[in-house]
Amino acid sequence: MNSHRRRLILQDRHVPLPRIVPATELMVADLPERVSLLDPILSSNTLALLYGPRGLGKTFVALGIAWAAAAGASFLGWQASRPHRVLYIDGEMAAVDLRERLRLLGSAPPTLDFLIADLGLHSLPDLGHYTGQSRLQQAWGEPELAVLDNLSSLAGFKLGGPDRWTELQRFLMLQRRCGRAVLVVHHANKEGEQRGTNRREDVLDLVMALRQPADWHPSDGARFEIHFEKTRGLRGDATQPIEARLTTDALGVARWGTDPCGGQVTMSWDHMGDGINARSQWMSIDTNDPTTFSDCSITYNLDVDWDWPKLCTVVEHELGHLAGHDHVDDPHDVMSPYYVYPSAECSPPRSQAAVAPDRAPHAVASSKHASSSKKKKAKSKTRKRRASAARSKGKKRRVAKHGKQR
Ligand SMILES: [Zn+2]
Repeated sequence: MNSHRRRLILQDRHVPLPRIVPATELMVADLPERVSLLDPILSSNTLALLYGPRGLGKTFVALGIAWAAAAGASFLGWQASRPHRVLYIDGEMAAVDLRERLRLLGSAPPTLDFLIADLGLHSLPDLGHYTGQSRLQQAWGEPELAVLDNLSSLAGFKLGGPDRWTELQRFLMLQRRCGRAVLVVHHANKEGEQRGTNRREDVLDLVMALRQPADWHPSDGARFEIHFEKTRGLRGDATQPIEARLTTDALGVARWGTDPCGGQVTMSWDHMGDGINARSQWMSIDTNDPTTFSDCSITYNLDVDWDWPKLCTVVEHELGHLAGHDHVDDPHDVMSPYYVYPSAECSPPRSQAAVAPDRAPHAVASSKHASSSKKKKAKSKTRKRRASAARSKGKKRRVAKHGKQR
């Protein structure tokens, strides 16, 4: 028996048992109501796990859940009825990368806090250890939902390392008793399985696996499926897999009545200095015929102080170029070369100043049950892309650089 295990048992001797409650008393006891945080997947006492391979969008999904629960908004069709206090604890990601993902979701809800290892000189608590757990609980301000991203960096879970699940599980169960939801993010191994022991599923109410679709292509970017492997409390449609993709399709079609480059627009972020918001690029055979455009991409400037109305308007503007629209002089027009006013659909609603509205559908299109027709559509897009690559010799490259503003 190692010293770690011995300490746990010694601690146990001093912890009193919960009180024995007769069934008659339990039946009439005044128990706290379960509160829905993000309907239907998270309630006030849900212990959830989200796992998947690196680079597939785990942090984006975890952030989306945190953002929607905090904003009283929806994400991937899951809905929060009001804003909740949410703490997002990240032990691994650079703060600038986290901010970049957060920007894609919209404005920051005031009830969403971060504890980020990358910021400041102090280390994050080790959640695989009792002292780290109490250090966190003293400082975290009673969130209704805590997101732990991820097990390896926050609780020292390593392949072949000592099993620290027992102590972490005790911490998670305590949170559930306190009526707090916890979402744990974990890396899958190369086979797509959870790393380490399967025993951890016992205590969890919800296990979500992120998987790459069979017909995924690198240009699809963040496109993934979410499968529900354990669904205590979920029923029917809610347990069906979800296919999700970070996409510009919805916004492009809504604004321009067309899907620029067939929806295949690569989005990226870069440091571009002052005086420019974004840059769009595309290839074309006939510059006047947007149906001949291909290789569409938009790069956004990390050095700009973005808010949602501005980002949303600039996305529309860049998609406008990719749909064949040139600049116009009217500053109220979304194709004005300078960002002056947000476009109508990007303006913040006046009645909800403190609460971020549901903006996820603009950035994230989701559909339940990836249907076969959808798969066929994806395949035909793939074919189209290859065909256009073969013709690309006679093409002109066009770049719309947006001097000053966009
Ligand atoms: Zn422009």
